[in-house]
Amino acid sequence: MPIDGMAQRWLIRGATLPDGTSTDIRLDGARIAELGTGLSQSGASVIDAAGLVALPGLVDLHAHLREPGYEHSETVLSGSRAAARGGFTSVFAMANTLPAQDTAGVVEQVLALGESAGYVDVQPIGAVTVGLAGKQLAELGAMASSRARVRVFSDDGFCVSDPLLMRRALEYVKSFDGVIAQHSQEPRLTEKAQMNEGALSGELGLVGWPAVAEESIIARDVLLAEHVGSRLHVCHVSTAGSVDVIRWAKARGIQVTAEVTPHHLLLTEDLVRGYDARFKVNPPLRSREDVEALRAGLADGTIDIVATDHAPHPAESKDCEWDAAANGMVGLESALSVVHAAVVANGMLNWSDIERVLSRTPAQIGRITGQGKPIAVGSPAELTLYDPAATRVFGRADLSGTSVNSPYLSMTLPGEVRATFHRGYATVLDGTVQGEIARSNLEIAGHARGVPTHG
Ligand SMILES: [Zn+2]
Repeated sequence: MPIDGMAQRWLIRGATLPDGTSTDIRLDGARIAELGTGLSQSGASVIDAAGLVALPGLVDLHAHLREPGYEHSETVLSGSRAAARGGFTSVFAMANTLPAQDTAGVVEQVLALGESAGYVDVQPIGAVTVGLAGKQLAELGAMASSRARVRVFSDDGFCVSDPLLMRRALEYVKSFDGVIAQHSQEPRLTEKAQMNEGALSGELGLVGWPAVAEESIIARDVLLAEHVGSRLHVCHVSTAGSVDVIRWAKARGIQVTAEVTPHHLLLTEDLVRGYDARFKVNPPLRSREDVEALRAGLADGTIDIVATDHAPHPAESKDCEWDAAANGMVGLESALSVVHAAVVANGMLNWSDIERVLSRTPAQIGRITGQGKPIAVGSPAELTLYDPAATRVFGRADLSGTSVNSPYLSMTLPGEVRATFHRGYATVLDGTVQGEIARSNLEIAGHARGVPTHG
């Protein structure tokens, strides 16, 4: 465990809370001990947070940490470091590992890997079907009652396309307040699909991925959720029509929640023109009109949260022909900056909205405690300090995971996470992920360490 020893005392001076008020924040162990101005604490490490926004630690409901089975792409440890770098204190780990997270044993293994890494809370997601094969329900109840306490189930990467299996899964998880997180992709409508279906796919001669393949599954699933009175979560919504269907379902009182990724809020299908496989992702990048609808849906609450769909791949899976390349992009380290660029810079969302869509609501949907709490006395010391005035050309040095398949390399992005606190420990300081050595240096020094501000 790289972050060990006693949790320190921290005094964060002059941070800006999501509502715009300025305050000092005193952390004592794993709790927020005091808020106010002019606070003092002997023996505390002091951080100058003037100009920094303090947010509750970010919670990602959708990340691929690849372990067990694909450790050349990412491990729970390397993914946890990437998450901390991005300001996250909790990450839900998707089930498409090898073996899949479809038994109590495997989800408990992933939970233990997360605990031993220590950078964030790693909450395993359980597979809906055995081996994500879509044939037979996995041991949902056993995973729910395991030490991993699984409440979110998903075959993500694959759609639970069989309506009877989807119905049974929705029924099954009701007894323990679980939720089915669906990767909405009608498989027959997307065979061999390579990019968004439209004028551009015709021009480039690539097989199109029609919006209706996503929208038809969402429409079916919200009706199934209504029929059985269960909770549905829609992963990575990517089309304007999907936003309309979810808006309709919510107005009808159906228990549906939805997520959008940072990349679907910022990037469009035009990037496919260069055939750079860093832009190949599932669901595909869509049109400018879709991006505008997703932003509006997030702003009006139709879409509940932002989730990264962090999907690490080794270079050999991306440095190849477009048709042969793997789908997916890493996103933990860049998420807050990309959301900032997409919906904060233009005033559609403010920092209180960001707290809601990237911390509070994902924790609620996933039914985890100890995360997503407001910055208040007694709340867990799960905290992110973000510099909204910073600007950087995003580069490989900004990535802390094993894989570097980021679509943002060489793009200019606003903002930067300066510090992350998890259970009272600084997992990131000065924008740098802390390790055993850095941490012991810090404890030996035992004095103030400033967090520089930009601009
Ligand atoms: Zn997916």
